[in-house]
Amino acid sequence: MKISDNFKYKGLRSKLVKELKIKGIKDENVLSAVESVPRHFFVDDALLELCYLDKALPIGNKQTISQPYTVAFQSSLLEVKPNDKIMEIGTGSGYQAAILSFMKAQVYTIERNRFLFRKTKKILFDLGYGILTFYGDGYNGLPKLAPFDKILITAAPPEIPVFLLSQLKIGGILVVPVGDSVNQEMLLIKKLSDKKMDVTKHGCFSFVPMLKNKS
Ligand code: SAH
Repeated sequence: MKISDNFKYKGLRSKLVKELKIKGIKDENVLSAVESVPRHFFVDDALLELCYLDKALPIGNKQTISQPYTVAFQSSLLEVKPNDKIMEIGTGSGYQAAILSFMKAQVYTIERNRFLFRKTKKILFDLGYGILTFYGDGYNGLPKLAPFDKILITAAPPEIPVFLLSQLKIGGILVVPVGDSVNQEMLLIKKLSDKKMDVTKHGCFSFVPMLKNKS
């Protein structure tokens, strides 16, 4: 049973938001989501004291909850608007999905690891976020629910998963860290037409790999 939110955690979140501003996060909607969503609900009790530091933390099965800066940075690149239909690949702890949902997006999130899928589905349900969770291989996306306004990949593929661009609306945005298992470059791909994509680069990051198939 998770402890509830309180002034101590709210204070730590305000401090975290100040830190994210100093590090260059400007999107007010993103900052207010970080200020409001209790990150401590998404980590194990043993890590409660660490969860408002700007650090990635283990969530089991060799996976991590992304660093708050990274969550805020990817969320800013997505330019989230109310009612945006967003597919997230790599549910993990569910924290990133909760941030997008707080920003009033309709969130569809896919996880390939059955253990994390089950654990996080329950946490998101208990918290009352209307997020739809799917167990599957994100490389396939969600063809029956496409197209999406935005696609966010929170694990790192070795190259752009081109197939997923077919599930993006024209004018839509896909954000993905592409690279090897150590370093990746954050790419923002804007779909200008069915054949034309505008790709911009947004710095180096370190994510766990995007693996094929379910486990
Ligand atoms: N967004 C998460 C970050 C999770 S780390 C959070 O806020 O906590 C990346 C996650 O991607 C891991 O849980 C990993 O199991 C998952 N993953 C890796 N390859 C995947 C794939 N092909 N499809 C779906 N999920 C994948």
